[in-house]
Formats: sequence, C-alpha cells, structure tokens
Amino acid sequence: MNKEVKEQIFSKIKEYNKIFLFRHVRNDGDCVGATKGLKRIIQLTWPEKNVYLIDTEASEHLEFLGEEDGPVAEDEYKDGLGIVIDTASEARISNKNYLLCKELIKIDHHIPLEDYGNIMWVEQERSSACEMIADFYTTFKNKLKIDSEAATYIYTGMVTDSGRFKYEGVTGDTLRAAAIMLDTGVDTETLYAQLYLDDYDYFKFKAQVYKQVELTENGVAYIYIDKAMRQEFDLSLEQASACVNKLDSIRGAICWIAFIENNDEAGTIRVRLRSRFVHVNPIAEKYNGGGHACACGATVYSRDEAMALIKDADALVREYKQTHEGWL
Ligand code: AMP
Repeated sequence: MNKEVKEQIFSKIKEYNKIFLFRHVRNDGDCVGATKGLKRIIQLTWPEKNVYLIDTEASEHLEFLGEEDGPVAEDEYKDGLGIVIDTASEARISNKNYLLCKELIKIDHHIPLEDYGNIMWVEQERSSACEMIADFYTTFKNKLKIDSEAATYIYTGMVTDSGRFKYEGVTGDTLRAAAIMLDTGVDTETLYAQLYLDDYDYFKFKAQVYKQVELTENGVAYIYIDKAMRQEFDLSLEQASACVNKLDSIRGAICWIAFIENNDEAGTIRVRLRSRFVHVNPIAEKYNGGGHACACGATVYSRDEAMALIKDADALVREYKQTHEGWL
C-alpha cells in the first residue's frame, strides 16, 4: 500500500546526510518508539549519516528506552531533512526547529487535521505509527538494516498504541508487522514488565480510581483528578493521566474519560477520551482537541466545561446505542 510515497521517502532519506526526527508533544510509546526505531534503522543502514532526535520533553515511563540527543545549533537544521512522525498538526510538533529544515516529511496515522510538509504519508487506519515504520522497513528490507534494538522501539509503539493488540485498528497486517519485529529477538518479557508494572503507591492510586469513577445515565464512565488528589498520591501529571485506561472495562460504558487538572496558571484541564464501538473524536474536536476515532484528547478550562463535555459525550453515546446493536 502507498508504495509510491514510501519510495519517495526512501529516496529522500538516502539523499540527505543530515536527518532530524520529530514527534508530538506529551510523547507516548508510539511516537517515541517510531522516532527511535527509524533513527536506529537509518543509522544501521547508513552509518555515515547524522541522524538527530531532539526533544526537550522526556517521558518517565519510557525512560527505559534510553537517552536521546542533546540540542544542536539552529544553523544545523538548515541543510537537513525533517521527518515528523505520529503528529497530525504542526501545533503539536514538540521541537519547533522542524520549521528550519530544508525539506519536511509527515508520517502519521491520525485522522488528518491539516496538511504539512513536502511529502505526506498518512494512513489513518493503521493501529500505530510504529506499524507504519515496521511496514516501511519491510517494504525496503533488502536495502534497510534492522536489529533487535530498533525492533524493540518499534514493537513498543505497536503494543502501547494498540492496547496490546486489542483496539479496532489491529489487522492481519499489524500482526504480520509485529511478527517481523519479534523475529529479530525482542525480549518481550522485559518489555512488558517495563511497560506495565506499577510501584506499590501507584497501585494504591488505581484502587482510588476504581472507587471514584462515575457513570452517566447512558454509559460514559469518567473520573476527575484534581490537584488535591494528585498531591495526595504524589503523582506527576503523566502518572495521573495514565488512569484513563483503568476505566476501560465496565460493561455498557462504551466511552470513558479522564479529566486531569494541569499545573498551569490558566487552570487548563487535560481530557483523555477513549471508547469502543462508538467514535468519540467529534467530542474531542469540539473541545480544542483531536486524535483517533476511539482515542483522542482535548482541553477544557473549567469544571463546568468538563461537565458540558460529559453531557455531550452522554448524548453521543445515547444516540449511538439507540441506533446500533451489538455494543457491549
Ligand atoms: P492522549 O489521550 O493524550 O493519549 O491522546 C490520544 C490521541 O489523541 C493521541 O494519538 C494524541 O496524539 C491525540 N491527541 C491528544 N490531544 C490532542 C489534541 N489536542 N489535538 C489533536 N490530537 C490530540
């Protein structure tokens, strides 16, 4: 699929001696895995090229994937090729120096919010951007090199963005791509332990999440994590935000939402929306956000607005349930 655009990307990577990789703010396993994985593949294949992955944001739970590059002078970007992975809009690119690159490529699997870059390869039906990088490797496997390190990065994003191969975007292609990564010798026991074990205190916080979760009339489960609760459990924003996944297994609650109060003066509240069967991205888009049909994010500015969002989600779920069968 999309052989022509992949050929174009391959030739650009081959052509440039300096390549910069970019990803989205509030990084996650997919954008970290995809950028680190592609960087490693390029370096193994063309050791003489300079490939940089520069991001001031680091994610605590992905620290085990290792360090990244320190900053370089702005001038360095000017003759470089930029590749932005897993980022639907320019506003969400974390390192703004992408603007300085000579040419730019967009590789993404989100619902497109805007076009940017000289070459775009977007497949929104893919379960992860890492699946696209695995596919890129497979397409040119006679010319590209991979090892277990690169495959571990890529497999990490495939696992995390697909909810361990559970979400609706997972296809035969996903599993075939995953198999090719595993064939290189990924240590899955260690990887799953790194990704999914909790410290004791966090384990206790999860118990509190189960206690506090609310359910609307039509089946929207939600939790509101205010600053006081974060302080009580001594949680970073990232740790608090991760609780959204705990709400995913209530029968009939086909949409679930976590609200997390940020630290900023404006009093913004991060919203993480998830769903099965029903597509909830219109709600995210109404509240300054976007993402995927069943996994998206938004921002609200007050508790009242959070309540308004819940009402909208409840109405959407009611509509869906009235017009569809087979949901659980
Ligand atoms: P999150 O809940 O932050 O993990 O977001 C779920 C998905 O939606 C991820 O793929 C994000 O990249 C995307 N997303 C989150 N917030 C936004 C936003 N404000 N605009 C566009 N996409 C977003």
